[in-house]
Amino acid sequence: MTASMLGVLRPTIYRFKLGAFEVTTILDGVMLRDGPHPFFGNDQTAETVQAYATAHRLPATKMENGFAVTLVNTGAELVLFDTGNGAKRREIGCGNLRELMHVAGYAPEQVDVIAFTHCHPDHIGGLVENGAPTFPNARYLFGRAEFDYWRKGENISESRQATRALFMKVALPFGEQAAFLEPGNDVVSGISAVGAHGHSAGHMAYHVESEGQRLLIWGDITNHAIMSLQKPEWHVAPDDDKEMAVEIRKRILDMVAAEQIPAIGYHMPFPSVGYVVKSSTGFRWAPVTYQLTI
Ligand SMILES: [Zn+2]
Repeated sequence: MTASMLGVLRPTIYRFKLGAFEVTTILDGVMLRDGPHPFFGNDQTAETVQAYATAHRLPATKMENGFAVTLVNTGAELVLFDTGNGAKRREIGCGNLRELMHVAGYAPEQVDVIAFTHCHPDHIGGLVENGAPTFPNARYLFGRAEFDYWRKGENISESRQATRALFMKVALPFGEQAAFLEPGNDVVSGISAVGAHGHSAGHMAYHVESEGQRLLIWGDITNHAIMSLQKPEWHVAPDDDKEMAVEIRKRILDMVAAEQIPAIGYHMPFPSVGYVVKSSTGFRWAPVTYQLTI
């Protein structure tokens, strides 16, 4: 008997313990794009970026962009960081968070808190499903500067008009019941917001600590394990303030490297958990192997 060809299969759920907490990453989906240039190395020539990709055994003109949502169960509360792409991108293979949550052992109704890193489409798209809140029992926490920026809608670039429209449709309606974070504020006991704007006007990272074990959920501080991590100074097209994003990227990567703590990056290769090691030219992503499960 000959076995059937079954197509591509990827890991989509990963869980580890951090002190008394359990941390789960879920792959909401993967998007195929042209690139890395000009998405990454936006201020570099196509030849430079393509040569860099090739030198790292990456395709020169195609890339995948993955979306990893994080869930932290503190024992007291289930905290979700961002909501994935949602139904809008389901036809291109994204928006799988809700379905995969069940596979991971959670129901959307169990989510107590949603903390947003920022309000770009791949982070807020999953807020609503069929016109109703996807996570009906959750409290919503947005960075105040982030929420205000998109709500006011001043100085929105042409390329971000669709982002603003989506924000107005799916995120703004939660504004009345939401709470707003300043850098340093607690999300719940053991989790606090870290100011990290640049990728967006009020982008937040989140520091998680339990029983002396620490982790940084860095959102979109850097969006490619090679391109914008080994070359943090290269401009990234979806960074709303490119110069500030470079500055914050270097600062956060420096901190994660110096403190030797694990990080979760929304767009790092799944399971999107790893360490940052300083190199002579920039940084290197060291994907997690058994450090957190041993
Ligand atoms: Zn993103």
